[in-house]
Amino acid sequence: MTETDSATTDVTFRRYKDHEHGHEPWDELVVHAGESDLCPVYVHRAPPCQGSCPSGHDIRGWLAMGRGQDLDPADGPWQEQAFRRMTTANPFPAIMGRVCPAPCQEGCNRNEVDDFVGINAFEQYVGDWALEHDLPLAAPGPDTGKRVAIVGGGPAGLAAAYFLRLKGHACTIFEEHDALGGMMVFGIPGYRTPRDVLEGEVKRILDMGVGVRLNTRVGTDVPMAKIEQDFDAVFWGIGAQSGKPLPVPGADAPNCVSGISFLRAFNQGRLRHVSGRVLVVGGGDTAMDVAAVARRIGNVDLPEDAPEDARPEAVIMGKTTQDVALSAKRRGAADVWIVYRRPISKAPASQHEIESVIAEGVEIHDELAPLELVLDASGRAKALRVQRVDWIDGKMHPREGEIIDIEAGLVVGATGQAGDFTGIESLDNGRGLMNANGLYQVPGHPGHFVGGDAINPHLLTTAIGHARVAAEGIDAYVSGQEAAKRPKVDAFHFNLLSALHDGGLIEDTYDHEQIRGTNEARFAVHNYEDRSFAEIVPHRSLFLAHFDREAREQRQEATISGDQVLGNFTERFSGLSEEQAVHEGNRCMSCGMCFECDNCIIYCPQDAVYRVPKDQRAMGRYVDTDYARCVGCHICADVCPTGYIQMGLGG
Ligand SMILES: Cc1cc2nc3c(=O)[nH]c(=O)nc-3n(C[C@H](O)[C@H](O)[C@H](O)COP(=O)(O)OP(=O)(O)OC[C@H]3O[C@@H](n4cnc5c(N)ncnc54)[C@H](O)[C@@H]3O)c2cc1C
Ligand code: SF4
Ligand code: SF4
Repeated sequence: MTETDSATTDVTFRRYKDHEHGHEPWDELVVHAGESDLCPVYVHRAPPCQGSCPSGHDIRGWLAMGRGQDLDPADGPWQEQAFRRMTTANPFPAIMGRVCPAPCQEGCNRNEVDDFVGINAFEQYVGDWALEHDLPLAAPGPDTGKRVAIVGGGPAGLAAAYFLRLKGHACTIFEEHDALGGMMVFGIPGYRTPRDVLEGEVKRILDMGVGVRLNTRVGTDVPMAKIEQDFDAVFWGIGAQSGKPLPVPGADAPNCVSGISFLRAFNQGRLRHVSGRVLVVGGGDTAMDVAAVARRIGNVDLPEDAPEDARPEAVIMGKTTQDVALSAKRRGAADVWIVYRRPISKAPASQHEIESVIAEGVEIHDELAPLELVLDASGRAKALRVQRVDWIDGKMHPREGEIIDIEAGLVVGATGQAGDFTGIESLDNGRGLMNANGLYQVPGHPGHFVGGDAINPHLLTTAIGHARVAAEGIDAYVSGQEAAKRPKVDAFHFNLLSALHDGGLIEDTYDHEQIRGTNEARFAVHNYEDRSFAEIVPHRSLFLAHFDREAREQRQEATISGDQVLGNFTERFSGLSEEQAVHEGNRCMSCGMCFECDNCIIYCPQDAVYRVPKDQRAMGRYVDTDYARCVGCHICADVCPTGYIQMGLGG
């Protein structure tokens, strides 16, 4: 039996014999036993929250400001500085904070400790603060004399205008409708994207000096050739404005409409009630919004022989307007069913939206594949015929003999979107969308760039992320330069060298003379490596035991029950307080960047790690190592909670 075996099995095991009094100098042993040729270096990597945010927000950076780091007292309150940092990546923080499904939170390393950081709620807090305090966006860049046409005034087009104005290019937005905002106005209902909030965030962009031509559709009102002639480059942010028809026989029935048309009619104030059961087919955001709106606007009983133009579909298709007096006769919230082919847990809509519509009284029936619309003698759909199915290993298996007819007054298809290419047919890739290369250029159309749903319908933040990259491509194009290759982690990264330059902490420029070591040099950042463009720091690289479990601050949410939903258009969420936002800032583990915890200083047995003098500090430049003292024991790297310290410098 070995000593170790004895230690675990024998209760009488004793490590020391009687009268053994000597003790070993553990601190020296640790140092000498762990001695190595490697010394710590400071390695900046991108955090996974940022890697998962399609607009590439510097989330770690603005959360740090919330806990009081990386602030300049001359630059105003922390909220203002966080707003400035946020809007380097995305000019719509108050809207994102409300309706972005927050893929960043799914990626957050804090999930490994207790719960993700409330990134989305923090973003809303700062966005609302900026609106309340009427903060403008950054000033436009010096005028370049270049003109860019932006087709489409949705989030992609507006964000493109913002990023291009920052670079000093003149921009004109051409928008088919009478208002800017795209699906933020005509798709997502106002109780999710409050119109005053949206107007405030759009106005800030227009205040940068953006030209706008409303009610002007490129392709019909203005030919593409004219745009090419008058502008140096074009950005296409035309989205995907048409709902795809349900892919079943009978889908051309008059009372079978698309979710996009339904929501547009509601958001334009034309649709005020429905009649009979509303059957929504689909499991995405559009399906959930249609169902939630239908419950809210309520039901009016129409007689069997009611004239065609009195029916909701006539309003949805823009053939007539709804009778306000009739809306006053609403009997109650509408009977709304969602029919979805797959298990609802696999639906693309956010889990939260699904739970909300269920609480509001919508019935969800999943694993039902639509077969056809059953029409009455007049050609109207009276039911949707569906096949009950099972999903095994990702494959759909029909259940024999289980075909059901679900009665419906209105069938709303929400199974996909496509663009309208009337007059701009050469841009259609054959699937009702547009092609783009990695720089968001339209292949075969020099000077044409594209972003957002026009490429592939997704999220607001995605459209804004595309616009940022496209704006950089446009900038290079109109300046006659080659567009730079995009980095692997294509996001807004904190740059220590710039921070040191901006803070007046590094003034020297490199004179291209060979030198040995950079610790005394003032043109470079000593023993620091920036891998944020290529590497995301995984939770395994962090020292998670450093962090205590702390509950996430949650926004107050009003749960609306089925009997309260009729006519209820109040916003569901109320934002965080300042105290709560600061708490979330403190919960951020600052993955991949020093957050000044002092662990490395406290635990270094050689006193080799020291604080950088206060007047020379910047984010990421808080501690330094005296390599004459360091013996390479790697304790500092082991106790660094953020994974910022790595053993690297060879001896
Ligand atoms: C019902 C619904 C709910 C959604 N919910 C969410 C959500 O909760 N969270 C989220 O992140 N995303 C959500 N989305 C997705 C999000 O709205 C879109 O991804 C985003 O709006 C895409 O932006 P875009 O600018 O590319 O297109 P759009 O928002 O569609 O804007 C395109 C604009 O271009 C204009 N236009 C089109 N063709 C022309 C032309 N030829 N000439 C001039 N103007 C033209 C259109 O009128 C429109 O204003 C939702 C989408 C829908 C439909
Ligand atoms: S835009 Fe969305 S993904 Fe990006 S930080 Fe905000 S909530 Fe997260
Ligand atoms: S803990 Fe902070 S830096 Fe790390 S992934 Fe989460 S929000 Fe990002």
